[in-house]
Amino acid sequence: MRPPDFEYSGPGTLREALEYLDSRPGSKVLAGGQSLIPLLKTRLASPAALVDINGISELSYITTGRGVLRFGALARHRDFELGELPRQLEIFRDVSKQLGDTQVRNMGTACGSMAHADPAGDWGPAAVAVGARLIVESVDGRREVMARNFFKGPFSTDLRENEILVGVEVPFSEGQGTAYTKLKRKTDDFATVGAAVSVRVSRGGSIESATLVLAGAGEVPVAVEINDVVKGRTPDEAADEIKKVAGQAGEYQEDLRGSVEYKREMAGVMALRSLRSAYSRARGD
Ligand SMILES: Cc1cc2nc3c(=O)[nH]c(=O)nc-3n(C[C@H](O)[C@H](O)[C@H](O)COP(=O)(O)OP(=O)(O)OC[C@H]3O[C@@H](n4cnc5c(N)ncnc54)[C@H](O)[C@@H]3O)c2cc1C
Repeated sequence: MRPPDFEYSGPGTLREALEYLDSRPGSKVLAGGQSLIPLLKTRLASPAALVDINGISELSYITTGRGVLRFGALARHRDFELGELPRQLEIFRDVSKQLGDTQVRNMGTACGSMAHADPAGDWGPAAVAVGARLIVESVDGRREVMARNFFKGPFSTDLRENEILVGVEVPFSEGQGTAYTKLKRKTDDFATVGAAVSVRVSRGGSIESATLVLAGAGEVPVAVEINDVVKGRTPDEAADEIKKVAGQAGEYQEDLRGSVEYKREMAGVMALRSLRSAYSRARGD
């Protein structure tokens, strides 16, 4: 189907993009286009105007320094898959490697994925698990939103109509390990269920704290309290309880990807796999 008519702008600076967005209510940001273009073609979205941010080179970066990974709105899935990351944030490589297909990963952006807020999206749970800070900007200035407060519902976020998610900051530190594991039916499928884990491990090899966030388990990324279960233990010692706690969390619908019972069972399996992987990364195994 042909998209509805819209005005198009391809600014070269962030300032121009923000001013354009502010002056045209009903506009949409165009990043990788991997979610927005299909919505336009099926007429599920009909914005008055598109602000294409692909020409804004200042938004294209991934940098690491002083215990913080920073990336801009044009950091693409593929950049995380192939680029350098702090070993504590290998979760972002996991996410990117398991997302879509090569074409989607070449074009799609991490920020676009979070702004799109698909309940089965992979980036949101990872961002919540690692305590990411999202940097949002409009003509009125900048503000920060913790990833855990950003997702409001299916395809709904804290972003206002005149704001751009310009970048993300992720703190990391020694003793930390992270991982994302996803169950999907085939290449380029969204998660039946996915599990993002960030864990902190003591020198003695026991877990000090851990965060688990599930994908596809509700309307937004679902954070599961697991500290009581894992504290002072190893993943193997906590295995049965982790599977149980993860399996009890979230709200599922039966669909083509499986029954509610199956998804709960798989949430437990994915959670344990991610915990094991994050734990061994934290120990440098
Ligand atoms: C075949 C296929 C398979 C896929 N599989 C997966 C998958 O397994 N897991 C997964 O998580 N995703 C998957 N996706 C979606 C993919 O991750 C998209 O790249 C992502 O959802 C959107 O990123 P984008 O840069 O393409 O954004 P766009 O499509 O350009 O934009 C998406 C939405 O976000 C808004 N937006 C984008 N960037 C910003 C910004 N910086 N600030 C404010 N608003 C912004 C747009 O206005 C639009 O509403 C798949 C897509 C396809 C086509």
